Amino acid sequence: MTLTLADILSAARAIAGLADATPLVPSPHMSRLTGQDFLLKLETCQPIGAFKLRGALNAIAALPADTPGVTCCSTGNHGRGVAFAARARGLRATICMSELVPQAKVDGIRALGAEVRITGRSQDDAQAEALRLCAEEGLTDISPFDDPHVIAGQGTIGLELLAARPDLGTILVPLSGGGLAAGVALAAKTIKPSIRVIGITMERGAAMAASLAAGRPVEVEEVESLADSLGGGIGLKNRLSFPLCRDLLDDVILVTEEEIRDAMQALYFEDRMVAEGASVVGLAAVLAGRLPVASAPIATILTGRNLDMGTFTRIIAGEDIALGPRILKGRRYGA
Ligand SMILES: *Cc1c(COP(=O)(O)O)cnc(C)c1O
Repeated sequence: MTLTLADILSAARAIAGLADATPLVPSPHMSRLTGQDFLLKLETCQPIGAFKLRGALNAIAALPADTPGVTCCSTGNHGRGVAFAARARGLRATICMSELVPQAKVDGIRALGAEVRITGRSQDDAQAEALRLCAEEGLTDISPFDDPHVIAGQGTIGLELLAARPDLGTILVPLSGGGLAAGVALAAKTIKPSIRVIGITMERGAAMAASLAAGRPVEVEEVESLADSLGGGIGLKNRLSFPLCRDLLDDVILVTEEEIRDAMQALYFEDRMVAEGASVVGLAAVLAGRLPVASAPIATILTGRNLDMGTFTRIIAGEDIALGPRILKGRRYGA
């Protein structure tokens, strides 16, 4: 199975008017710091508050008319995208998630009329439940990242970025299972081979980063992170997103929880925007000085805004945050 720009162009037609054309806005603060135009792609403005609607709509549009229903495992936003897209097609959806998924995300999925199953402590446990539902109830599993239609759907962001700014030099992509990074890199590099696409993820519990370092899909222990949407494995039998990320990403950069916290604060206080920890890892890498100096405009994707507002308020106020057994010390912005 080879995925090409044609698949991404066809995904753009499938999602047109539903999940496309999100704003691309400058960040004056980040532009000042980097000495380049620094642009934010606001996937936070999607109807489900995250980019995953693109892939879910494209995957569900491709199903045969007699499909009894769909299922998936999710850290939250893919489930929300699948629930939204299934409802739009009048299909039943059952979303499988682990206990680590924040309640705000569970509530968002239920509100879209989908059934939610909470099983186990890891994304792998949730995936096992989804596969059981496929075998027993004839549902179709939609992978959050290792599915050609999902990758092509996420890749439409790359089309929109280069259509708006053909002069882009670097795209910073939050990286988990790699569906987003694979799709964006495939679109962007086919259109503009000289562009740099860099995956950014958290330091602890990042399965794709560990797999790329090992040269094959590996498992990592899941840990609580401010970037909860970046948790979960990539699947030991990964077929698509791993080889695409291996072949197309120029680099992978890791950021700490403190750096993610600082970036959430910077985005809020400087750009007056609210986004998930997973969304701000690109900003975090720049603010922490982990990105090589750029000589052309930079864009990052603010991938989602579906966070727990109680936790967000505490982060903004500089209070301590519990991440499982670990305490992330609070810090006031600018202090
Ligand atoms: C899913 C998700 C990501 C990562 O996407 P992958 O395709 O799994 O790499 C990043 N940010 C948010 C908010 C997400 O929901």
